[in-house]
Amino acid sequence: MDERIKQELIKIVGEENYTERLIDMVSYSYDASEHSHRPSCGVWAERAEQVSEILKIGNREKIPVIPRGAGTGLSGMAVPAKGGIVLDLNRMNKILSISIEDRLAVVQPGVVYASLENALAPYGFFFPPDPASGKVATLGGNVATNAGGVKGAKYGTTRDYVLGLQVVLPDGRIMRTGSKTMKSVSGYDLTRLFVGSEGTLGVVTEITLKINPRPTATSTSMATFQSLEDAGRAVSQIIYSGIVPSVLEILGRETIIAINKNTDLNLPEVDAILLAETDGYTQEETRYQMKKVMEVFHKNNAQEVREANTAEEAAELWKARKSAYAVLARIKTHFALEDVTVPMSKVADLLKGVDAIGRKHAIQIATFGHAGDGNLHPQILYDGHNPDEVKRVETATGELFKLAIDLGGTLTGEHGIGLSKAPYMTLEHDPVAMDVMRTLKKMFDPNNILNPGKMALEG
Ligand SMILES: Cc1cc2nc3c(=O)[nH]c(=O)nc-3n(C[C@H](O)[C@H](O)[C@H](O)COP(=O)(O)OP(=O)(O)OC[C@H]3O[C@@H](n4cnc5c(N)ncnc54)[C@H](O)[C@@H]3O)c2cc1C
Repeated sequence: MDERIKQELIKIVGEENYTERLIDMVSYSYDASEHSHRPSCGVWAERAEQVSEILKIGNREKIPVIPRGAGTGLSGMAVPAKGGIVLDLNRMNKILSISIEDRLAVVQPGVVYASLENALAPYGFFFPPDPASGKVATLGGNVATNAGGVKGAKYGTTRDYVLGLQVVLPDGRIMRTGSKTMKSVSGYDLTRLFVGSEGTLGVVTEITLKINPRPTATSTSMATFQSLEDAGRAVSQIIYSGIVPSVLEILGRETIIAINKNTDLNLPEVDAILLAETDGYTQEETRYQMKKVMEVFHKNNAQEVREANTAEEAAELWKARKSAYAVLARIKTHFALEDVTVPMSKVADLLKGVDAIGRKHAIQIATFGHAGDGNLHPQILYDGHNPDEVKRVETATGELFKLAIDLGGTLTGEHGIGLSKAPYMTLEHDPVAMDVMRTLKKMFDPNNILNPGKMALEG
């Protein structure tokens, strides 16, 4: 970093909150994707005013500034694609207030998801999005990526819980959006514009979140299906039945085989396994819902249906689903975890299409995910040192995205666009929508300093 700018940054954040150390630069060059690019320096901000001053320097000098939470993103969103200053928000990690009577919590962006969950637990409340990375990912990152999780079908994603934000714009102005009320129709919904914007429009420095009372009872069951059509029909009919399970997960055949090879779970090697959970406030309520779910399983030729009678049995049923990502990640030297999402009635079509793409390109693709909201995770396993295989993976990935779009779906239900899916944005969004997004980016960030190179905003 240029010495003059370095000294200006140190003046804002202090010597202890500025780094150019190799170990930090290497850490900041990655997230959980395959992308990497080193920044020139990193700064830890502790207050919105510091963020404002840092952005003013970036804007004046036209140096990229990349907001960063825990760096667990799976699409290269926090990777400093064009170098510059990494703005690390991890030290802004205070829960500012919890107001049960108002059903909300106000937090700084560096608070880890699990820390908020722990703080809400004694009140019997929770913050529902529940990303699988919740033990490390930050709430600022969750907001910037609109994170979701296994309970998306019933509880939605982060977007559904953000009531208001404090945001620092690329020119350094500090803005408040939204309100602390459950309802507001006052002006444009600027809050929603920032949720999922991947740090390209502003830096989130405070978040007001709606919280929910935590259900106190759950029921869990698992069903195996010899055909994908039966499993797909079961998913649709559960939705018809008027029950909204809190969890409805699916494991495809390739995933089941991989789990069997790498664990002692000994699952039946069928086309699909569905795992369902219902939640509520009494066992009677959750069992009533689960009975209806299991009726649908039976009606659709489930081979085996198991219901958990105890918490231990429920944990046993969850084991296969919970092990999927880690088991698959170990099989080849490289993997890409996709998160295409389709209307729930198309889940079976997506699974069949993914299998066909895998066969066509001789690539192992194992799929699992959230059948209840149509968000599946085809995990593409490959040898990244084999150029021919890498090329086939690239072609297969493009076909996978096209398949999801043709089925009426979207490129990403959870993991965002970042660098990985930027080349495919125009598959999903028409030229007018792309033009509006690029115009918005230019309006907020005319010098393109905030997290540049992401989301195909520069086309
Ligand atoms: C094992 C594993 C499991 C995962 N499971 C899930 C899952 O179930 N659901 C899901 O949705 N995701 C999941 N993810 C992806 C990832 O955890 C989420 O995208 C998460 O929300 C990222 O949070 P983070 O703090 O790590 O953000 P980072 O990766 O640091 O940043 C992500 C993006 O947010 C921006 N950003 C971060 N903080 C701010 C801020 N304060 N203001 C403005 N922009 C900001 C960054 O610039 C970047 O564009 C998983 C990842 C892994 C590795």
